[in-house]
Amino acid sequence: MRELPMKIYDNSPIYLQNLLTTIEGYRKTKSRYGHIYFEFLRALGNRSDSDKAAGRTHQQEEMQKLIAYAVDRSPFYQEFYKGIDLESIRTVEDLKKLPVLEMDMLQKNIASFYTLPESAAVVSYILDHSGMPLKFLITKEDMQRHMAFLDFFKNRHGATNLEMKRASFSSNRFIPKRQRKKVYWRDNHSAKQRLYSSYYCNEKNAGAYVENLDTYKPDFIDGLPSAICELAKYINQNKIILSFQPIAIFTTEEKLTPECRKEIEAAFDSPVHHHFAFTEGAPFIAECAKGKMHYNPGSGIIEATEDKEMIITGFNTYGTPLIRYKTGERIDLAIEEERCACGSAHPVLRQLQGREEDFLQSQSRGKFTALYMSMAGSSFSSAIRKIQFSQTEPDAIDVMIEAAESYTAAMTESIQEELVYIFGEDMKYHIRIVEEIPPNKKNKFRLVINNVN
Ligand SMILES: [Zn+2]
Repeated sequence: MRELPMKIYDNSPIYLQNLLTTIEGYRKTKSRYGHIYFEFLRALGNRSDSDKAAGRTHQQEEMQKLIAYAVDRSPFYQEFYKGIDLESIRTVEDLKKLPVLEMDMLQKNIASFYTLPESAAVVSYILDHSGMPLKFLITKEDMQRHMAFLDFFKNRHGATNLEMKRASFSSNRFIPKRQRKKVYWRDNHSAKQRLYSSYYCNEKNAGAYVENLDTYKPDFIDGLPSAICELAKYINQNKIILSFQPIAIFTTEEKLTPECRKEIEAAFDSPVHHHFAFTEGAPFIAECAKGKMHYNPGSGIIEATEDKEMIITGFNTYGTPLIRYKTGERIDLAIEEERCACGSAHPVLRQLQGREEDFLQSQSRGKFTALYMSMAGSSFSSAIRKIQFSQTEPDAIDVMIEAAESYTAAMTESIQEELVYIFGEDMKYHIRIVEEIPPNKKNKFRLVINNVN
């Protein structure tokens, strides 16, 4: 929601906030679940995932379509592929003839990637894990196709979005910061969804959340694993028997540790299925019934360099095309011949390798993963070149910012407010504007650095 509606929302009573959430939900539902979504969902259902050859052919067609579109509409690719015989790129193997798109090329030139004007696009601001802001323009088709992949995956595991009752653990800010009542949820009736705020999901409030979940009795649960895990621990420690059993629990956006998976599955007596969300429009990667991570070749192509660095081509990136983009993530692709016991011929990814999840810790509110800092910083993405959040004392958070020209002193105050919303009022915040954020070991930039743990 934009600033003024947000002010009205914040000052409304909770029943009115529920209504406003539903109205906003209705607007979003219309743009996310239009006819393209339903057509695509049907197409996904009709396509067999055990037929490897057909999957390959479809993937190649999608690849050719995206390359042709990018070269036709995106000034960056017109320049980047100059002199390359694009007609000769027919197969996934041929794709290697195209140059790799490095992260800094995307960051420096992102405006020349766009294939449509901002007014016609869904705009998404993200901060990547190195702390650099990126503004993605997404077409309506990109968005609806992505939602179809997501819901098709949930459907496979028994949950039908929009038809079944859903409880979502979300990092959106629908709980006003001045609220004192322990009512940390709002209803979006347009999608049969109760939204639970992940900001207050800690040991202190877990009882209130669990009690509410138990009266709501959702058919399935989705959202941030760190928040759901907090409740699961509370349920297990207090030996609470819930009066409902969700069909499944879907986690995303943060890493899911094996410990958390165990806690959640025990608490809710229900299986957890994880899916990845790391870059806007990246190929869809999700867990199958046998617990393996597959990527859907209809959603893109994943390659790995010899050093196991991941290179992605995303078929849902028509607004800001990503072709052979090196994401900075590391990955292990299983050998093609290995077929998963679930019967799917979709390629298997052997665990995304990476460091442990980065997090910072509040004195009174628990841990917050990099996702929260990414959300806080992305509100200022047009005014910053780079940002880093770090912690060396239990009661203080340090922020370093490389400012862009449009940065104003008022933004420092807003960033402070964002931090208070996340970590609370009993912390100190030091926000500094610097010429250059010093790189970490190995010359790498990091969005979040924790020197306390
Ligand atoms: Zn499988």
